[in-house]
Amino acid sequence: MKNKIKNSCINEFDPTALSIENAKNRILKTIKSSTKVEKIKLKNSLGRIVSKDIRSSIDIPSFKNSAMDGYALNISHLSDKNNMSLKEVGISYAGKPYRNNLKKGETVRVMTGAVIPNNSNAVVMKEMIRIIDENIQFPKNIKKNQNIRFIGEDIKKSSIILKKGKKINYIDLGILSSVGIEYADVIKKPVISFFSTGDELISIKKKLKKGQIHDSNRYLLYGLLSELPVSIKDMGVVKDNKNNITKKFIQCSKISDLIITTGGVSVGDADYIREVLNEIGKINFWKISIKPGRPLAYGKIKKTSFFGLPGNPVSTVITFQLFVIPAIEKMMSSEIKNKLFISAITKTNLSKKKGRVEYKRAFLTQTKNKVFVETTGLQGSNILTSLAKANCYIKLSANINKVKKGDIVKVLPFTNNL
Ligand code: AMP
Ligand code: MG
Repeated sequence: MKNKIKNSCINEFDPTALSIENAKNRILKTIKSSTKVEKIKLKNSLGRIVSKDIRSSIDIPSFKNSAMDGYALNISHLSDKNNMSLKEVGISYAGKPYRNNLKKGETVRVMTGAVIPNNSNAVVMKEMIRIIDENIQFPKNIKKNQNIRFIGEDIKKSSIILKKGKKINYIDLGILSSVGIEYADVIKKPVISFFSTGDELISIKKKLKKGQIHDSNRYLLYGLLSELPVSIKDMGVVKDNKNNITKKFIQCSKISDLIITTGGVSVGDADYIREVLNEIGKINFWKISIKPGRPLAYGKIKKTSFFGLPGNPVSTVITFQLFVIPAIEKMMSSEIKNKLFISAITKTNLSKKKGRVEYKRAFLTQTKNKVFVETTGLQGSNILTSLAKANCYIKLSANINKVKKGDIVKVLPFTNNL
């Protein structure tokens, strides 16, 4: 009985709970980076992690070309201030170059992206000239090198264009294709299996009876994992039954690099996850000083890592974002991006108990020169709708108790793709 009170979640100051940083370090220490690599078609490489530095075998641009539709010339050919005209001697189209050098008195009509003569040193926009018969009348003040794209100004031959650990995005697809790379070397997808636990959980196809809920965590995890370069195995739902949970863990550990469960990891009478893991694997820790998300069991079954995430949906999401994503990133030697916090003015008073770091779901807005933040509603760890409305978390450190309207708070904006 004494033990139960000591371990309960009522006490905000829990000496056995790890700080976020400590927990993250302990997780990362146990995770080995994968050495399994594969070569895949460029089109299939979106979102995958580059396994070795990729270099360009060519310069980009690979030839001197025009940045405008206009006329290429050599400025020294216009030395006579009274006669600013040159004769058009040819046309260079993108893909159909004019190959000769300019002779004295000559200009070439050029399209954007077309090869320009080697000895040209300026391009004048079409809109800036006057055509008089075959002669092109140029304006004064033409600057050397204007409107010229030089060889290698974007990418130098042999330079690294994508570093090992980079997640390939749409911009990278553009860069890789521009240098003619057809296949990319990437880290193989680690296999991640996940299942939900709880006697109350039923399929979304079924009608709820009193006391039952639909299993939403498995859909949350499916969505969260789908955005990562991993192979997903949905292992269903397991009842709060020690034997069934044991069997499922053993089955998962044989086929996966990482196992994620939700629920059954707290101090309730039907919470078996820790007990099972203690028997068939090793628990590294199971509590973190964070709200929502205190109960989180992390450890290993042989070589497979497991995360026993809390059952409440918002806790599932937050612990996934804070701990599972860095673990997966380490597994794939992927660059670990430091999260960018910003400062914002809180529009309302905020309160919390001292003892845990708290992540509040909130909405960030911007006026001309100020950034404001406001919580999005009920903050219980079961309230998924306030997370849906949020575009950021307000992070309040453990020793904070009250924040006054108008004070500055630390905010972690949700990333988007722009
Ligand atoms: P537990 O950690 O198992 O005590 O669960 C904590 C809370 O999360 C309870 O209200 C559960 O009903 C709820 N919960 C657990 N698993 C799920 C799930 N898969 N989907 C939605 N809610 C869940
Ligand atoms: Mg449960």
